[in-house]
Amino acid sequence: MKQVIIAHLYPREMSIYGDSGNIRVLIQRLVWRGYEPLVKAVEIGKPFDFDEVDMVFGGGGQDRGQLLVGADLLRRGEALRTVAAGGVPMLLVCGLYQLFGREFTTNEGEIIPGIGIFDIVTTGSNLRMIGNIVVDSPYGRLVGFENHSGATVLGKDQAALGKVKKGYGNDPNSGREGAVSGNAIGTYLHGPILPKNPDLADYLILQAVKRKYGDTELAPLDNALELEAAKIAISRPQ
Ligand code: GLN
Repeated sequence: MKQVIIAHLYPREMSIYGDSGNIRVLIQRLVWRGYEPLVKAVEIGKPFDFDEVDMVFGGGGQDRGQLLVGADLLRRGEALRTVAAGGVPMLLVCGLYQLFGREFTTNEGEIIPGIGIFDIVTTGSNLRMIGNIVVDSPYGRLVGFENHSGATVLGKDQAALGKVKKGYGNDPNSGREGAVSGNAIGTYLHGPILPKNPDLADYLILQAVKRKYGDTELAPLDNALELEAAKIAISRPQ
């Protein structure tokens, strides 16, 4: 069977608002297509070989969680940048999205350096950007829930994930959400994001199996329930 290995970054410290549900979606959608998913947790201080990884996922966390994982992530920066340059698909949500950028300064003024896969800088603000969010992206209309006080500014040439239709996104002013560098996608969308956004899940899966096995398409699935859930979520007020 064709195995697909997913690295799950710091599941203990970095998984809020259901972010680990993204892993369950990836597993199930791989199984339905006849692949054999294998999830490997990346834990603070434990050795991890990124060479064999086909996908990387990391969720959100409070500033405290980010302070806990920050130094360990920096030690893995070189390996993760190499994997990203090799086209391995990645999904980073909120707290780890921020740490895949250049740096995050918390409300208390602590600077947590990031690994620079995204050209973004995040600064804690007095505004909590919280609520339902809808984003137009190349992966369809995305819907989720955001809750962050960090405001993220994209570098001049950094592509965003999409345009905010409802909610805040990266910051209160730009109208842009998330970042995309190659096959690495960063976003503020929790919920978790993937159950209600199956096209995004399949985009990540397709990049992984294309890269590893040369597979160019995925067997279609019935997404009726997922799309109905998205429709209901989109209709909710912010
Ligand atoms: N601590 C970060 C912020 O509030 C990340 C929050 C999160 O991951 N939900 O900006």
